[in-house]
Amino acid sequence: MHALLLALGSNLGARRDILGGACAALERCGVTLLRRSHLFETAPVGGPSGQPPYLNAALAAETALAPLEMLDTCQQIEALFGRERRERWGARTLDIDILAYDDLQLESPRLILPHPRLHERAFVLAPLLEVAPDWRHPILGKTTRQLWEELPDRSTPGAWRLLTEEW
Ligand code: ATP
Ligand code: CA
Ligand code: CA
Repeated sequence: MHALLLALGSNLGARRDILGGACAALERCGVTLLRRSHLFETAPVGGPSGQPPYLNAALAAETALAPLEMLDTCQQIEALFGRERRERWGARTLDIDILAYDDLQLESPRLILPHPRLHERAFVLAPLLEVAPDWRHPILGKTTRQLWEELPDRSTPGAWRLLTEEW
């Protein structure tokens, strides 16, 4: 089995149901979920202006799928929930990013591991801190907790908000 960290995001449609449905779909596709973060509501970063807020979550999981099979699976589940790709960082019903796969370092045309922007993003690190605080970034050599503490915009008002209800 391979250790997986995944990031989920949605800012279109029934966001909470979509993220819950994505977890169920991952489990049907050969991903065993170990831990799931709370939902975080976050302000959109990058992309066209005027986008609605996101719900984000992080998952710790394991799988026997190979890295590119895992990417295909994520993209198939995105499509299942009506993801359309129009503009970079545009609004979407569902985004599933592979944050890390074991300690693999990979730079291929379709897949970069660890995810190249994870360490810059409060909306990724805040949920990741709940499910994998001691995970160590294989390139940067820092744990999630260290990356979080070094992140300038972690305390920007309105950047993120923890939702306490179950999902
Ligand atoms: P970002 O990657 O900055 O979070 P995004 O999630 O909006 O942006 P997408 O349009 O969902 O970007 O994906 C663009 C491409 O990124 C995908 O087609 C995929 O091939 C590639 N990609 C590279 N590395 C990864 C990864 N670790 N997880 C998911 N997709 C990846
Ligand atoms: Ca993304
Ligand atoms: Ca993506």
